[in-house]
Amino acid sequence: PLTAYDVSYFNAYANLEVHEEMLKDRVRTESYRSAIMQHQKFITDKVVIDVGCGTGVLSIFCARAGARRVYAVDASLIANQAKQVVEDNNLSDKVIVLHGRIEDVEIEETVDVIISEWMGYMLVYESMLESVIFARDKWLKPGGLILPSHASLYMAPVTNSERYHQSIDFWHNVYGIKMSALIPFAKLTAFEEPSVETIKGENVLTWPSLVTEVDCYTVRVQELKTITAKYEFSSMLQAPLHGFAFWFDVEFNGPELPVLNYYYNQLTSGSLSQDQHPHSSGHLRKRPKSEEAVILSTAPEDAPTHWQQTLVYMFDPIQLEEGQIVEGSVTISQREEHSRFLNIRLEFNSGGRSFEKVSVLR
Ligand code: SAH
Repeated sequence: PLTAYDVSYFNAYANLEVHEEMLKDRVRTESYRSAIMQHQKFITDKVVIDVGCGTGVLSIFCARAGARRVYAVDASLIANQAKQVVEDNNLSDKVIVLHGRIEDVEIEETVDVIISEWMGYMLVYESMLESVIFARDKWLKPGGLILPSHASLYMAPVTNSERYHQSIDFWHNVYGIKMSALIPFAKLTAFEEPSVETIKGENVLTWPSLVTEVDCYTVRVQELKTITAKYEFSSMLQAPLHGFAFWFDVEFNGPELPVLNYYYNQLTSGSLSQDQHPHSSGHLRKRPKSEEAVILSTAPEDAPTHWQQTLVYMFDPIQLEEGQIVEGSVTISQREEHSRFLNIRLEFNSGGRSFEKVSVLR
């Protein structure tokens, strides 16, 4: 059933500015185009569903790569614009735009490819992956291709004195007026909830930890309701710890990805220890990254994207020594009354201090 939250969600995507921002994100859009071209052999003469087509950009990339037919589905009114764009590019015979939720539309055949740009802030905000799973289970042929195929969510401790200075120290002297009494209020305002902002590689205190890894070929809706992971970091610097950053990457692997390859075998046989693993500090990846696949990364050390990073700040910085261990756990769960929003619970232990912070990304 369509809830009031769904209505406001799809209304937000009727706004062209949202699509403009995504289209102008070249890292995002060109990664998809490269992935489509990389899988062109597979896509040629095949049938595709684009879950959440927006302006139709990915559908048109697929049609131009040789797809026989593309079902471009969007529940937002942007579908009307997509129709126009498809017509103007002379692709109306190949790209069928359907205005409706993927859960509600009728498609009378099974398909070879599902493509979707479903990722939200810290990967799972918006909970749109569920709609991709729905399409996969209903229409994808065995051996079909899902783009992207895998997603990983990471976290790392960060230092960000500049941000703290701007939001908190500012109140000590405002045009010569002492407003320090407002600092507790300023801390709440600035740091109570997660914020989406761009940090730099230099802000990150050590290697990231893998929070979760999603295989789009096999993931089930139930697994996304609550994601929980332990973390353990050893700070590479002496610096004030201000909080934790979250970011993700997605990979565009084909369905025939060999799951057991060199690294995986080495890891599972114990001949390579976890800290030698190239992609993870503390937590073992279930699956190695493939070397050929296109990867769309939103990491602080990579080119910025419109996803930026998601920051969970602490109210006060904690001075870390080099080599100091910071450990705890994080739980990210969909909010009950509004499953597109996220509850984030962070447990923290370091240097004899322990606390828990609960915040909401809305
Ligand atoms: N594919 C486009 C737009 C991505 S934004 C591009 O890459 O630029 C995600 C789009 O998915 C939005 O337009 C939103 O309205 C749509 N969407 C989200 N959930 C959906 C669902 N369940 N059914 C149909 N469309 C959906």
